[in-house]
Amino acid sequence: MTSILGIPLDENSSFVTGPAKAPRLIMDAFHSDASNMIAENGVNCGDPNTVTDLGDMQLSTGKAAMDSIRKTVQKEINRGQKVISLGGDHSITFPIIQAYSQSYSDLNILHFDAHPDLYDNFENNPYSHASPFARIMENGLAKRLVQVGIRTLNDHQKDQIKRFGVEVIEMRNFVSTLSLQFEGPVYISIDLDGLDPAFAPGVSHHEPGGLSTRELINVIHQMDGQVVGGDIVEYNPDRDIHNMTAVVGAKLLTELIGKINE
Ligand code: MN
Ligand code: MN
Repeated sequence: MTSILGIPLDENSSFVTGPAKAPRLIMDAFHSDASNMIAENGVNCGDPNTVTDLGDMQLSTGKAAMDSIRKTVQKEINRGQKVISLGGDHSITFPIIQAYSQSYSDLNILHFDAHPDLYDNFENNPYSHASPFARIMENGLAKRLVQVGIRTLNDHQKDQIKRFGVEVIEMRNFVSTLSLQFEGPVYISIDLDGLDPAFAPGVSHHEPGGLSTRELINVIHQMDGQVVGGDIVEYNPDRDIHNMTAVVGAKLLTELIGKINE
């Protein structure tokens, strides 16, 4: 069974805010009569025996918000659920992975993003959306981190990649035949700015030259491994055009559910 959890946290964004409004807009697109709810591999995401919508969390701020995200996800995992979280900014992935690492000791993470999000310290906020994967790796919460779509590397981020042994598939080297092999459980974190802004304009940080929607879906379809959860983050409705990025988020949600339940 898959649980969908809305995490409308926005306080760790930099530059502009907006992602707090994202989860319900993605769910509205997911349920829209404009499309059916069948993943491409045939899994029916409209089946209540497959998918439960937990609604949006009521969040406080700071460490208390992070703790309640961790505890909520932990509770779902403990009752046997695979959790797909809808952000929110990318800072939510750290407490989610804290919860996952309690139950999955040899976790792999597949991370789509324009940015590696490995800053040791960004604007003096350890929970910044630019830092979740630094927090995850320095705490030893994942045995393997593979990043796809990266196109913003600076010297500090390159140092962090070496320090943590991150496997980075930079966008300039991306090939559509990419077929990743994982041993053990896989968590998939999708920052929508990993896509090209032509496909997903509703993000805070536009980085041209990214993945197409099809390319991202194919990486998920073509990967080998047991997917146990994921997140879709950084949708910013204030920057969107005709909700098209919400529809892309709903499509990726459908394909994630399909992959988890195949
Ligand atoms: Mn990003
Ligand atoms: Mn990110």
